[in-house]
Amino acid sequence: MAIEFEPEAPTVFDPSAQTPKTDAAGCHAGADVMNDAARKAGKSEVLDGLAADYPKGPHDQPQSMCPAFGSLRVGLRMRRTATILSGSACCVYGLTFTSHFYGARRTVGYVPFNSETLVTGQLYEDIRNAVTEMANPDEYDAIVVINLCVPTASGIPLDRLPAQINGVRVIGIDVPGFGVPTHAEAKDVLTGAMLRYARTEIEAGPVARPRNFDGSKPTVTMIGELFPVDPMGVGAMLEPMGMVVAPQLPSREWRDLYAALDCQVAAAVHPFYTASVREFERAGRPVVGSAPVGLDGTAAWLESVGKAAGIPDKKIDAAKAKALPAIKAALADNPIKATVTVSGYEGSELLVARLLIEAGAKVPYVGTACPKTPWSDPDREWLEAKGVHIQYRASLEQDLAAMQDIRPDLAIGTTPLVQKGKELGIPSLYFTNMVSARPLFGPAGASSMSGIVAAQTRGKDRFASMVDFFEGVGTGGKNAGHNLARRNTQVAEG
Ligand code: SF4
Repeated sequence: MAIEFEPEAPTVFDPSAQTPKTDAAGCHAGADVMNDAARKAGKSEVLDGLAADYPKGPHDQPQSMCPAFGSLRVGLRMRRTATILSGSACCVYGLTFTSHFYGARRTVGYVPFNSETLVTGQLYEDIRNAVTEMANPDEYDAIVVINLCVPTASGIPLDRLPAQINGVRVIGIDVPGFGVPTHAEAKDVLTGAMLRYARTEIEAGPVARPRNFDGSKPTVTMIGELFPVDPMGVGAMLEPMGMVVAPQLPSREWRDLYAALDCQVAAAVHPFYTASVREFERAGRPVVGSAPVGLDGTAAWLESVGKAAGIPDKKIDAAKAKALPAIKAALADNPIKATVTVSGYEGSELLVARLLIEAGAKVPYVGTACPKTPWSDPDREWLEAKGVHIQYRASLEQDLAAMQDIRPDLAIGTTPLVQKGKELGIPSLYFTNMVSARPLFGPAGASSMSGIVAAQTRGKDRFASMVDFFEGVGTGGKNAGHNLARRNTQVAEG
């Protein structure tokens, strides 16, 4: 594959142009201080781009894990891709711990720094040397370098790294916690950067053909991390339209990016991939929002995908006629008679709420840490027409207040929300575990998602008796222990 790249930008980092004061303040200095330092260090363009792609508000930032985890995860899941972190050791420790906790079986590279290497710009040289040392084309297609908070605030210019070394692509990105609000959106930072790189390769000439993909049929690229069964289920639903699913994004291998970009339609099923969507638009591909979830959602999604791809109405109707009866039957088999609140930071909260409502649940509140984008507008409109309050960029406090006001039969949410829900005797389910461990789309999603929620809501009485049993335990001094001992005695006697 003959690829010509732009002439490399000068790689000499001039520390005199920077004002890296952040080593002393560290990442605990506060977002404003870090932001100010980063701008003085030449990162204004990067931060303005992040602010435009990932708008904040109504408050600054939802509470979630370190945003950089999203980018790290995307890199670690790709074959023949090395990932290097540049950041404070404590941040790197937390990020590597989390990535291994979530099953990454890859080494995470780390270029350490101290005050001196940060201030003198030696850190940039150290990163460049590390990348050069690793750039073995027999092992890697790409090396990803991620600037965390302190190196971003210090202006470490990863954009000056060579675009490729020995044929190994080098992708340098800034993913500071003070610029990227959630780890969900950090997935988009890296995915978008890779797509941009791949698009320029396609424009420059022939590129490698993806493995196990013939490309003879029109394709749909699903944008968003999905349960593995979902792309297969969507493929079955597309079949009457003569379409197939392209390799999804974030991708598992570099060459899959080419096939993803070469689709007929891009489907932003997770609506926060703003930078990635931009690359599809630049490649001239139409992008559709929402997802094939529940009865109405699947019908509307098949319709919008078919229309965007120029498929005749007859074939679109055939696709709907095949998929919808099975979804209807699955929802009828798992009716939910309960009030449920939904909150999370995955970006699929609105889709889950749609499914629950179609299964019969009352969902008064949906909170999502992600921002409002055009790609979730169909879901927002559908939910609002059903009287649902949707809180974008929801804070933990807003999610907790909704749960406490509504007192639902089931609260689906983040870990602290689930913890609080259990304290209050409200059956609660961790959103990430629920959606990442089962399908969401089409007939499979309708039966599995509504099935688990229906089962959980049946346990309300059990929760109430547990709260009653443990009342006072762990909240006071020795009296609480006495309460538990007394109750244990009663149980033993009774
Ligand atoms: S990189 Fe930034 S947001 Fe992430 S843990 Fe470190 S200080 Fe926090």
